Amino acid sequence: MNPEVIVVGGGLAGIAAAYRLGSAGKRVLLIESRPRLGGRASSFHDLATDSEVDNCQHVAMGCCTAFLELCRDLGIAQEFVPAKELYFVGPDGRVNRFRASGLPAPFHLAWSFWRLSYFSVGEKLSLARGLAALVKLTPKAAARFSHFEAWLVEHKQSARLKQLFWHTVCVSALSETLDRIDVMAARKVFVDGFVAHRDAWRVLIPRVPFDVLYAGPVKAALGRVGVEVRTGVALEKLASDREKVTSLQLRGGGTLAADQYVVAVPFHRLISLLPDELAQHPNVASIGQLEVAPISSIHLWVDRELTTLPHAVFVEGIVQWVFNRTVLDGQSDQTTKGFYYQVVVSASRNLAGLSQGEIATRVLKELAIAFPAAKDCRIVHSRQVTEHRAVFAPLPGHEVLRPTQQSPIANLQWAGDWTQTGWPATMEGAVRSGALAANNVLGRLGEEPRPIAPPLPVAWASRMLFGL
Ligand SMILES: Cc1cc2nc3c(=O)[nH]c(=O)nc-3n(C[C@H](O)[C@H](O)[C@H](O)COP(=O)(O)OP(=O)(O)OC[C@H]3O[C@@H](n4cnc5c(N)ncnc54)[C@H](O)[C@@H]3O)c2cc1C
Repeated sequence: MNPEVIVVGGGLAGIAAAYRLGSAGKRVLLIESRPRLGGRASSFHDLATDSEVDNCQHVAMGCCTAFLELCRDLGIAQEFVPAKELYFVGPDGRVNRFRASGLPAPFHLAWSFWRLSYFSVGEKLSLARGLAALVKLTPKAAARFSHFEAWLVEHKQSARLKQLFWHTVCVSALSETLDRIDVMAARKVFVDGFVAHRDAWRVLIPRVPFDVLYAGPVKAALGRVGVEVRTGVALEKLASDREKVTSLQLRGGGTLAADQYVVAVPFHRLISLLPDELAQHPNVASIGQLEVAPISSIHLWVDRELTTLPHAVFVEGIVQWVFNRTVLDGQSDQTTKGFYYQVVVSASRNLAGLSQGEIATRVLKELAIAFPAAKDCRIVHSRQVTEHRAVFAPLPGHEVLRPTQQSPIANLQWAGDWTQTGWPATMEGAVRSGALAANNVLGRLGEEPRPIAPPLPVAWASRMLFGL
């Protein structure tokens, strides 16, 4: 193959770019250093249970329109199942069911919110005032605050509200603690996820491990549009003259060349792949100042069923979100391997220094608040995966460090959740970045860019009330 475009990196950003370019009739080669596609949203083989397991449970939301559009294009949309309701476990272990009523946004969640058992009436009113003020916040007014927690303090959100509500939502969406989150990044989570449109909050959970999707339908869909995928092929160094990238030197020898390049690797890998002159360009050097946040997933196989709920959010403790994979996988009985639960801990710095055994014990103790069977269960097998560089941290000021997809070199695009997409580090951000990079390539080749899925429309009442 004599490719017109080479895409480096087979995560969601690279897949999105390659698919879009392939669909536009371009000859595309996608190279990925690992043996599998998927990058951070991927699976591994767990030997003890002889099963494919996602490195960490990923969820999308109704507001992730570009991601969902790509899933439809790739023929995998049906594998992401919308949760009918969410389950919030209060500090006393009571499970609160959370679902939309028939009302339009922004009132669709009001009834569920009002029924939350672990807030007093006064706290709920305070929260409602805080939420309304946040949605109305302008970038100029936000600039006064050094971080989101400072904003919450000024808006009289108590320590309890900060922990049980604001932290619970923000840590899951942004993988950071309140004192490390940019105010406008926090605002985006609440506006896009809960206020703008009544379907935005819907959580979508994959019902099969990611690798089943990549190895089957995703590879087939890429093949259908003529994208050649080569796994186990890594970029070592990009070669360029002043005007353009000329070739890619591969790890282990060999070179590849094309007219256009999309580099879709994580930002912390990028700089070492570039020629010095490009790496030192101010718009590129600043990428290195982005900081990272860790996410851990604790995979537990236990000897009995802890709950029949498919998932639950815990608002206190180290457990943030538990996924009942046995139920989500559609298997009622997993007695040979055990009942499989996956616990997600975002911004998991607090786990450093604890052994895997200590963490598993603490997790079970916390789960037992709501699911008493966790008290006496036996762990059949457990595994902890910590991605120390899971996502870029949405620190105050981080947006100016994120580059556009157009690199300083004309025939080179960046893609990845860390580029400017308007989104935090998410599958949606990754897919948007790939689509934007591919559109830039099409533009350079003199072709019309293809439309990217727009965000969900803002509900009439939300426009009237908040001026969104
Ligand atoms: C633990 C965890 C939980 C998460 N949970 C969620 C969630 O619930 N919902 C959500 O929306 N997002 C979640 N995310 C974020 C989401 O996974 C990422 O935003 C998204 O997958 C990033 O995709 P990407 O293509 O930009 O980068 P990556 O997935 O990192 O892909 C980059 C690819 O480039 C390859 N590569 C690197 N160097 C080279 C080289 N030299 N040559 C060739 N290839 C190379 C890598 O192997 C990788 O496959 C989570 C992330 C983690 C880590």
